[in-house]
Amino acid sequence: MSDFKLMIDGKAAGTAGTFSVLNPADESVVAMCPEGTPELVDAAIASARRALPGWSATPDVERAAKLMEIAALIEKHHQELATLVTREQGKTQSGLGANAEVGGAAAWTRVTAGLSLSERVIQDGPGGSIVVRHKPVGVVGSITPWNWPLMIATWHIVPALRVGCTVVIKPSPFTPLSTLRLVELMNAVLPPGVVNSVAGGPALGAHLAGHEGIDKIVFTGSVATGKKIMQSAAATMKRLTLELGGNDAGIVLPDTRIEPLIEKLFWGCFINGGQTCAALKRLYVHEDQYDEVVRKFADFVATIPVGDGMDPKNLIGPVSNQMQLDKIVDYVEDARTRGARIVTGGARPPGPGYFYPLTVIADATDEMRVVAEEQFGPVIPLIKYRTVEEAIRRANAVDVGLGGSIWGDDPRAAANYARQLECGTAWVNQHGALHPLAPFGGIKCSGIGVENNIEGLHEYTTIQVLSVAG
Ligand code: NAD
Repeated sequence: MSDFKLMIDGKAAGTAGTFSVLNPADESVVAMCPEGTPELVDAAIASARRALPGWSATPDVERAAKLMEIAALIEKHHQELATLVTREQGKTQSGLGANAEVGGAAAWTRVTAGLSLSERVIQDGPGGSIVVRHKPVGVVGSITPWNWPLMIATWHIVPALRVGCTVVIKPSPFTPLSTLRLVELMNAVLPPGVVNSVAGGPALGAHLAGHEGIDKIVFTGSVATGKKIMQSAAATMKRLTLELGGNDAGIVLPDTRIEPLIEKLFWGCFINGGQTCAALKRLYVHEDQYDEVVRKFADFVATIPVGDGMDPKNLIGPVSNQMQLDKIVDYVEDARTRGARIVTGGARPPGPGYFYPLTVIADATDEMRVVAEEQFGPVIPLIKYRTVEEAIRRANAVDVGLGGSIWGDDPRAAANYARQLECGTAWVNQHGALHPLAPFGGIKCSGIGVENNIEGLHEYTTIQVLSVAG
């Protein structure tokens, strides 16, 4: 695979440098990616600024129609994009993997195209009229992570375009290829400059995030980078949407029949090998049921095939890059030395690729790093609790709050407990289920703002009050 392009002003930009994108399943080079420079970022922003007046003045129905065309293009290129995602990111073709990601990207695009913003009349009478309007915020800088590269790119670009903004996107250097291809496809139907792409690492992201030509940054990634972006946005008072990390807890209520829930628990924890912001990352289980749940869950996990994502028999692929693999090894070794029990997994297989087995850790405690921090890998610690109130308190005792879940036989009782979780989405008997009309975002250090539906569109607008004297 070759010939990936940075799109600036509707054309492929000439670049001097390239960097290699590796396949995490075997460490081979998937493609050489054209490398952006600060000058190319400047050119991309200038192009987006030139395109802004025309695109924001384009009739709403025409913008919606263009996004519908983009959804159809994603579907037409489904197989190509799904293969790229597997090869650069590692997730499987089967299960909740690359095909689900591309299908989700098309579905999210179509649903977002179908949304529209309306003006709100606060007053209309002899005393005058007051109307609340939403205007596009301007040029949006988008910075994305490596875990769901194509899906997150559409989550950033499509709502921005829907309301009349123009965009410069910088994907993660680990997984830039599917995004570059997506932007190239988008440029086949959009006017020049409406969506531009640059590729490179943190320094290029920092150049974009601090640029005076950018009105808003939408960023999905780690809490640490989110804090830096917030600082660099201050000088020009950029608007921000920050979708950051989490450390989602799940609580299994006492006396829960575990068998019917095991498969959902599995996907909640291990979707994309645990490399999902809103994956279940620590599971609290009542002491009376603890041994039974550990055994049954670990037995189920051990049956799931892990391997190269291109092989349809596999349901989970490798860890996406060496950096993340090193972190996971550290977390498991820290837990082991502090007395945790590795029930299944816990040792790297020989051979090439960044593989790590699905790992269930028992006798974990809140002090272990694998519980206290976001481990972001194919590992789940199970932690014992005595009372539900205590479990909820411990679930909430972190500085992040993306998602959380309660598991039990009585969904209504579980929902009452779920309301007490400090997080942006509280699930019952599932974890990580998303819907294109359900606002998604975190509280505390998990971020600022939400994506999806009208609330998500509002994030790409500023409010103007039009007040006319009577
Ligand atoms: P990361 O923060 O390391 O990198 C994300 C992006 O930011 C990359 O494109 C990177 O090049 C860029 N970047 C790095 N430093 C920068 C800087 N100083 N200024 C501007 N840009 C910079 O995150 P990652 O390792 O790619 O992704 C994993 C993290 O993303 C996890 O914490 C995960 O929870 C989080 N995440 C959150 C969500 C969500 O919706 N809340 C979704 C997916 C991933």
